[in-house]
Amino acid sequence: MIMLKSEYEYRLMKKAGEILAKTMNHIALLVQPGETMDKIDDAARLYMQGHQAMPSFLGLYQYPYTICASVNNEVIHGFPVKEKKLLEGDIVSIDMGCCFEGYHADMAYTFPVGKISSSRKKLLETTKTCLKKAIAVAICGARIGDIGHAVQEFAESKGFSVVRDYTGHGIGSSVHEEPQVPNFGEKGRGMALRSGMALAIEPMINHGQPYVKSLPDRWTVVTKDGSDSAHFEHTVFIKESGTEILTDLNQGGSA
Ligand code: MG
Repeated sequence: MIMLKSEYEYRLMKKAGEILAKTMNHIALLVQPGETMDKIDDAARLYMQGHQAMPSFLGLYQYPYTICASVNNEVIHGFPVKEKKLLEGDIVSIDMGCCFEGYHADMAYTFPVGKISSSRKKLLETTKTCLKKAIAVAICGARIGDIGHAVQEFAESKGFSVVRDYTGHGIGSSVHEEPQVPNFGEKGRGMALRSGMALAIEPMINHGQPYVKSLPDRWTVVTKDGSDSAHFEHTVFIKESGTEILTDLNQGGSA
């Protein structure tokens, strides 16, 4: 069932999104060669808790951390552990959610660590543009398939591939709500977008083949062919007057 949000719920989600974007700006300063991921995880948790919010992922399906930190060939759900030290030239996808008074926002951003190769740069820019193009078509009256089509068309035009096994999702009083929002699809297909829907749109794009597998820790998802992967995500709110990005990084964050 699709949960359409009230004005009151919209305002709580907007606040969750604002705190989450500011948290992302806050930890962006720590993404540097030599930094270990446990420190970034701590910083994210403390920032949210210091702003009357809670990490959404901590404890969700028994996930043990605030952030997911996926480096290079890791796609999603990487653990932010001390042993994971960032190296010059890495890319790291940081995915996290924030809960404010019972309502969630969810976002991801893939950071370059120091100076990165031109092929990694192209993967990051392409995935970021996929998200932008997806949000541009996610308007009242459009279809879920329009979103996936926009992502797939652009990613594949650049020679990259779209992860099929994981999708975006509805979001609200739960982190994961209906509908699923695939990053592939056909224009004009699927459910119509309506005012009051909140969606987490999150292209996961691989440099090589689209296939992924889980590591024995049962969380970390990596590309099967070992190629790099990038992930950008925003929580958006669909309104008659236009679609609003609730996790916009340019809303007075610290970085
Ligand atoms: Mg998500």
